[in-house]
Formats: sequence, C-alpha cells, structure tokens
Amino acid sequence: MKVAVLALQGAFAEHETMLQRLGADTFQVRQLSDWQQHKDALVIPGGESTTQLNLLEHLNLLVPIRNAIHDGLPVFGTCAGMILLACQEDGKPRQGFGTMDIDVRRNAYGRQMGSFHTVQAVNGIGDDIPMTFIRAPYAHGLLSSSAKVLSQVDGHIVAVQQDRQLATAFHPELTDDTRMHEFFLHIATS
Ligand code: GLN
Repeated sequence: MKVAVLALQGAFAEHETMLQRLGADTFQVRQLSDWQQHKDALVIPGGESTTQLNLLEHLNLLVPIRNAIHDGLPVFGTCAGMILLACQEDGKPRQGFGTMDIDVRRNAYGRQMGSFHTVQAVNGIGDDIPMTFIRAPYAHGLLSSSAKVLSQVDGHIVAVQQDRQLATAFHPELTDDTRMHEFFLHIATS
C-alpha cells in the first residue's frame, strides 16, 4: 500500500509517521512530478485550506488530484483537508476538490473554542476516539445520501464517509490513536 501525502503545507509529517507505523509506504506530494508516481491512496492534511488551495492551483495539482478522486482514488482529508474535499461552504459552491457531498463551515467553533480536545465514538470504528480540534470546521449538511455521518460532537458532524472518501474535522494524526488511519487503510484496500 503506497499512500501519497499532500505536503504543500500543514501537518503532513504526522500523517506519514502514523501511516508508516501501520505498515504503509508513504511519499510526499510537493509538485506535479511527485503526484505522477503510483499511489493507492491520498491523505490531505490539516493546515490552512486557503493557502493549500492557492498552492494546488499554482502548481497545477488541483485538477489532476480532483480527477483521481473522481476516478475512485481513496482519500482521507483532515480539518483543512475536509474543507478542500467539500463541495459547499455555508450553502455556496466552494473552490477546491469538491468531491464530497458535504456543506462545511470553517473556523466553526468560534474564537474561544478555537482549539479543544474531546473523545467521542465513531461509527464502525470504536468508542472513545480522541479528537483534537484546531480552528476546525464541521459539516452542517450532507448533500447526498452517499455521504454518511460517522461522528458528531455537540450536534455537529465531525466525521463523514462517502464511498472511499473519508473526512474528519479533527486531527487523528496528532494523537497516539491509530484507529482512524487503520479504518482509512481498510477502506482503501477493500
Ligand atoms: N481553519 C483552517 C482552515 O480554514 C483549518 C484548520 C486546520 O486544518 N487545523 O483551513
């Protein structure tokens, strides 16, 4: 299993460490020639979605990555990665990959709740999944029946699966708990 990790900005190194702990090979995608290597799956890290989007456009990576996801490449987006996968933000179409039928709200928890940690169950994965939120989004609507809620915190959707696409508002790569990544590798190989 070879996992491409988008490495333009943000917490990509922590994803690589976790994937490698689980036995996957990883490589960083910083430019188009990296992307052209063989891969079985893609991870889009947290960070700053506007910065990542500008770089994706500038480096001519946005369209080839979007096409690969459309063609079935398994993808896991965390936080800013979730925002980049969403096809809507606050009810309006948004720039990005736009491959997940979700409507997101950015920086959705307000200034005082900008960063927090909690534990919550994730359907099909387990109880007590540690969740670190950093100026995180949430999904406030699912736009098709193929998008499924996996977890909610305080009534807000924080984990979604749509076929072979997985998105979390939180950062599992910043904890010691490997279950979200194991679940993703399972999706990617099934
Ligand atoms: N607030 C960031 C954004 O809008 C996401 C934060 C994160 O990825 N930790 O892109």
